[in-house]
Amino acid sequence: MRMRVIILGAPGAGKGTQAALLSKELGLAHIASGDLFRQAQDRGDELGAIAKSYMEKGLLVPDEVVIKMILERIAAPDCIQGFILDGFPRTLEQAQALDQALSANGIDQVLYIEVSDEELIRRLSGRWLCRSCQAPYHMINNPPRVPGRCDLCGGELYQRPDDAEETVRKRIEVYMAQTMPLIDYYGKMGKLTAVKGEQDIDAVSNDMLAALGRGEGPGEWG
Ligand code: ADP
Ligand code: AMP
Repeated sequence: MRMRVIILGAPGAGKGTQAALLSKELGLAHIASGDLFRQAQDRGDELGAIAKSYMEKGLLVPDEVVIKMILERIAAPDCIQGFILDGFPRTLEQAQALDQALSANGIDQVLYIEVSDEELIRRLSGRWLCRSCQAPYHMINNPPRVPGRCDLCGGELYQRPDDAEETVRKRIEVYMAQTMPLIDYYGKMGKLTAVKGEQDIDAVSNDMLAALGRGEGPGEWG
């Protein structure tokens, strides 16, 4: 069965962590807009250069640039059975462009991970990512088995420059102003499920699977 899912949440809420687990469990493509921009920067192409100037300031990349990149990506063959969007849409304009591009009822579920601001800052200041496969770790909550190395592929772990505290505060402010309206947008469509993000990773994952009608979490039983 085709399944198209959006994961919403502030920077550090756990979108990447959960999208990776869900995509494995459900066999869906995991599409992370931030990862696509970082890959473009590593390749040294024009998209990467445009994105970098916004990302390093904690600002959103302009809508037309992000929308074009994502609509091209979801047209790829690995998205025919569905996908999990992580970090897109982040503005009303992006959400409307996505709805227009997909057929009626295009998005099946929007899962919103709720986490307090203090916890977001704690998570991002301890976040380390794999340079090769982007898997996220946390030095206290979710450490790698071998220090400095990815459990999944052995790649080198690094800290994102935009995870510096001042930039994190800006990113949260931008999220509140530009992305929070999407909660209402998808809520009114009846597609939104909120999940408590301040539980351990597996508990969050179970709640998300239950909201998608898989597994046995509280989402199914109330
Ligand atoms: P996002 O993609 O929303 O920015 P990440 O998935 O990268 O967030 O998670 C941010 C940080 O928080 C990472 O270091 C990750 O290991 C950690 N983390 C994710 N989920 C949880 C959780 N449920 N409890 C504690 N730490 C978590
Ligand atoms: P993320 O990896 O999701 O934390 O995104 C890192 C940065 O990439 C953001 O702070 C933005 O600068 C940019 N970015 C990612 N996704 C989007 C989007 N949907 N719209 C605009 N900018 C984005």
